Amino acid sequence: MSGEGRARGRTRLPRAETTATFVGMPAFPSMAREALDNTQQRRNLAHATHTIRTKRAAVVGEVPQWEALRLNGSQTKDHMLAHLDDYLLQLEENLVEAGATVHWARDADEANRIAIDLVRAEGVDEVVKVKSMATQEIELNEALEAAGIAAWETDLAELIVQLGHDRPSHILVPAIHRNRSEIRDIFRREMARAGRPAPEGLTDEPTQLADAARLHLREKFLRAKVAISGANFAIAETGSLVVLESEGNGRMCLTLPETLISVVGIEKVLPSWSDLSTFLQLLPRSSTGERMNPYTTMWTGAAAGDGPQDVHVILLDNGRTSVLADEVGRQALRCIRCSACLNVCPVYERAGGHAYGSVYPGPIGAVLTPQLRGTSSKLDQSLPYASSLCGACFEVCPVRIDIPRLLVRLRTQVIDGKRGGLPTAEGAAMRSAAWMFADHRRFEKAQDAATLGSLLLGRRTSIHRLPWPASAWTEARNAPVPPRETFREWWVRTHGESATGTTGSGGPGAAGGVR
Ligand code: SF4
Repeated sequence: MSGEGRARGRTRLPRAETTATFVGMPAFPSMAREALDNTQQRRNLAHATHTIRTKRAAVVGEVPQWEALRLNGSQTKDHMLAHLDDYLLQLEENLVEAGATVHWARDADEANRIAIDLVRAEGVDEVVKVKSMATQEIELNEALEAAGIAAWETDLAELIVQLGHDRPSHILVPAIHRNRSEIRDIFRREMARAGRPAPEGLTDEPTQLADAARLHLREKFLRAKVAISGANFAIAETGSLVVLESEGNGRMCLTLPETLISVVGIEKVLPSWSDLSTFLQLLPRSSTGERMNPYTTMWTGAAAGDGPQDVHVILLDNGRTSVLADEVGRQALRCIRCSACLNVCPVYERAGGHAYGSVYPGPIGAVLTPQLRGTSSKLDQSLPYASSLCGACFEVCPVRIDIPRLLVRLRTQVIDGKRGGLPTAEGAAMRSAAWMFADHRRFEKAQDAATLGSLLLGRRTSIHRLPWPASAWTEARNAPVPPRETFREWWVRTHGESATGTTGSGGPGAAGGVR
């Protein structure tokens, strides 16, 4: 698989289009600007991300061998990716031996079709779901709805998103952008339409909200015949699937219904049980800031008289083999969806998850989405730029994904994809800048003009809007007012004229040097 992928070439961008839900969404800068105007959301996000990252830092600090664990996690994932074809076949063999049925899905359409056929075969028109990024990625809920099948999310945060007709904005806490009173309002307004109504006089007390959700969901758990899940890990050695969660709602889905359909990205494979121990330490500490997650459910096919008797596993590619073909970009497939990179990202904290136009927001979304979906849309072209490149995401990533490096690489690919044809405003501006910097006399003249401009701007320290074509730059950021004194003028003023000659040919007076 990897050899074939390499042969296809590594500069080619993947071909998948932006999915139906996100098609036509504006590029990241427009969405981010809209999000920045939502002060309530910014407050909610800042509070939640700061709380989680403080908890994470504390529990990670308790582990003296944390760096060794990170290294072990990244090496295990790299080994798995290098031998993915073998481990997938081993996983399939062991799953089948344990009584599960394995389906292979090349893309979202194929995976959705398989899942819909399986649900229809059971003669039901509703399913319960445990939170799953893979099913969100393929937009399975929408496909089920189009097929006349209701899919009920049972994770509390996912339930809030679903009842609010919203989209998830965080990997781990999909409703992170909502506060308690907003959630109360959603429950009061929407629960009755989806089943059991919210209790009379529901307040925004967390225990009351949790009780309302429990009562609402219990009815669905007890009547559901089919459940749909994802998996955090799939163990090739035994054919076992593993789901980590906090509420126990997932376990209800995984144990009560008669039929269980799991949609699993092919990069979720781990070679053996012993590898799992590393990730059971890395994931909870990095995601919820807990030493151990409250519920870990593991199942191996179907067990007679215990849990679902009809077990299906849909192994999903949907662009992953294309990412795998890129020897540098493939490290994004190490991701264990812990969300630590989101919680430390200054861009995510302010813009929120919706601005990324994908189920994978934040730093990992900015590298994974354009690799999985391709960069044919303006939205996907903008994602590699949704970062300050501060490197905080790499520092916290439990599997050491070098996100800043991948972002820069993707930016290069986006630019390469635009070469030829008419120059863009940005390209023209860069060419003008190159022409100006190439000759110290031109550079000095530009500095003189900038200094004069700054005098005209009075006491202002930043410029909100420059005239066209520089307006493209100030659409997403302010431009600083140029200093009233150049470096060279400052140097002469503070060191005297004679000091300019002491730095030799590379000094301030050299062509192209600092003036
Ligand atoms: S990229 Fe790393 S930090 Fe971000 S979600 Fe994935 S594993 Fe976690």
